[in-house]
Amino acid sequence: MTEILPADKAGVARAAAMLRRGALVAFGTETVYGLGGDATNAEAVAAIFHAKGRPHFNPLICHYPSSDSAFRHVVANERALRVADAFWPGPLTLVLPRRPDCPVALLTSAGLDTLAVRVPAQPVAMALLRETGRPVAAPSANRSGQVSPTSAQHVLDGLAGRIAAVLDSGPCKVGVESTVLDLSERDPVLLRPGGVTVEDLEACLGPIQRGTPHAAGQAGEGLRSPGMMVSHYAPDLPVRLNAATVADDEALLAFGPPLPGGRCQFQLSASGDTIEAAGRLFEGLRWLDANGARLGARGIAVMPVPDSGLGLAINDRLQRAAAPRGG
Ligand code: AMP
Ligand code: MG
Repeated sequence: MTEILPADKAGVARAAAMLRRGALVAFGTETVYGLGGDATNAEAVAAIFHAKGRPHFNPLICHYPSSDSAFRHVVANERALRVADAFWPGPLTLVLPRRPDCPVALLTSAGLDTLAVRVPAQPVAMALLRETGRPVAAPSANRSGQVSPTSAQHVLDGLAGRIAAVLDSGPCKVGVESTVLDLSERDPVLLRPGGVTVEDLEACLGPIQRGTPHAAGQAGEGLRSPGMMVSHYAPDLPVRLNAATVADDEALLAFGPPLPGGRCQFQLSASGDTIEAAGRLFEGLRWLDANGARLGARGIAVMPVPDSGLGLAINDRLQRAAAPRGG
């Protein structure tokens, strides 16, 4: 059962308590309804992908009640401070480097060194974020492949029974997604047009490049939409899938009862739970990459993960990690 919570003090308090214990709560912003989960809780973030039925992991936007709280988790450069001052709270998302001590789960960034952060302008959303006291990861609150919801009823149409609650703050004012601006490189790049116009951003920052395909083509992502043009995290060590045995000079990414051998191993889920495994996937690849190399491993062997539930998204990412890389 999905609870419908009113946008009053009690409703916000209940929604915040649910988020803090790892449950999923959809909430209205000025753009569209977001499907929120505690961004510091890897299993809650994995549950977001599960509820949406997404067949792949892409980085999620992390929502904060203020620019100060956002900039505690990412490194703000001079440009970021300027646009944040001009457009936050509002429909603008900034992609910036994660701080080394950033507590946000790696799955939220899909394993990347950057994090997309936003301070939404909707008063109920701001109250919820303040009360939760944690960054909230939230993609649009719809099933994968369906249109973004702009009312609580739209959210229920797609996700009733799949999430703990929806905080009903009425229809969304803007109705289109936030503008995504990448400020993590030397020049600003527009990754997705949205609620804040490029003209307004350029008046503040000077010329902005329109979404370049980064490593997207290379990763076989295709040119689906500008916002999807994100490079993918892949470990430096070569990755071997569907391993039935582990060689002495390999590191093991285990799923279920681990194979014997190898230089070191990382368990995705001892019980074979794909949601738990999804939450640990990027952590595991990074850990094996660093420790495997240190211990003299020459590759990462990956045990088979079933294609059911989030296994599909896990396998999609593992296949990309295992694909031959040019240059
Ligand atoms: P949605 O979750 O549907 O609002 O979409 C989030 C958008 O932000 C997607 O288009 C993502 O590709 C983009 N995005 C989020 N995080 C990053 C990141 N770290 N680097 C580049 N793009 C990102
Ligand atoms: Mg969406």
